[in-house]
Amino acid sequence: MPQNRRSDMGKHSRGPVDAYRNTQGRSGSQQKYGAHSKQTLQSRQTRKAPQPQPPKRNYLPLVIGIIIGVIAICLIRFVACSRPIAPQQSSSSTSNASASTSASSTTSSSASSSTSSATSTSANAQLTANEQDRLRTSDSLNNVKPDKRVVYLTFDDGPSSHTHQILDTLDRYGIKATWFVMGNTGHLDYVKDIWERGNQIALHTYEHNYDYVYGSPENFVADISRIGSAVNEYLGFTPTLIRFPGGSVNSFNSGNADAFKQAATNQGWHYFDWNVSIGDSTVPASDVDTLVNNIISESEGCNSCCVLMHDSDPKGTTADALPRIIEYYQSQGFSFDVLVSDSYGYHF
Ligand SMILES: [Zn+2]
Repeated sequence: MPQNRRSDMGKHSRGPVDAYRNTQGRSGSQQKYGAHSKQTLQSRQTRKAPQPQPPKRNYLPLVIGIIIGVIAICLIRFVACSRPIAPQQSSSSTSNASASTSASSTTSSSASSSTSSATSTSANAQLTANEQDRLRTSDSLNNVKPDKRVVYLTFDDGPSSHTHQILDTLDRYGIKATWFVMGNTGHLDYVKDIWERGNQIALHTYEHNYDYVYGSPENFVADISRIGSAVNEYLGFTPTLIRFPGGSVNSFNSGNADAFKQAATNQGWHYFDWNVSIGDSTVPASDVDTLVNNIISESEGCNSCCVLMHDSDPKGTTADALPRIIEYYQSQGFSFDVLVSDSYGYHF
């Protein structure tokens, strides 16, 4: 390296000399012409007089400037080329889900808002890394318990007339949740709002008809596939996270639950039960105090809580209780997250 540096310096140092020589040559020629034309002593004296030394040109700053310029251009090109390619979006896809302060791994959503039934593959190609994180299909960590206090707020049976109240509450606290949605609530189009505000969309059932869904594993697959296709119409992809109506083991499939679980696995679906229930299935709905107390008692000793709640028209008190529920978990040091396929699986 030192030799190279010296070599470079040698080249650089020759520049001024050559330039000087050229200057001298031209000057000499001019002087010679002058001598022939005037033939005066004065001119000869002038010719013989010591030539003023031309100022030595220092090319070093120029060379350094060029090198810096080249490096700058290379850096700019490198940065430009290494920038991730922005996902292609349909013109109506202008979501900006949140400058979230949530512990959730989800952020803004630019999921396709295409209403076309684009294939899952092409839709996924439009998702950012964070969005794909919500869609991960690997179950490599499915049975690894988290080592931090985390709570997954989940809402079944929505969307409903309370969905936007819940969304507003979540946004106010900078928290994301997971919806296990149904197809026949009359509000399925809200899945777009849920998703674009950074929450997770998972599948529950199309009609919540236990007799049909648990009539056979084939019926179950058909029903989940149906709600999956319906969601795809709004989001441009088909979620792979599901929750069995009534849980993966219930009174309708208790003798044959494994066959239904296997059917789900065969479809590449990841199912989630729960380990905390708000207890909002009663009719009429419980009041807010009761719901909050249910949460507190059910969460005792829970380090990673998957909380079952409902987002359905008769469950308005659940939406009303949500701020107190969030504040309770915050006071206990929990962080909040959405379910993804490799979240700890709460399986009955
Ligand atoms: Zn349900």
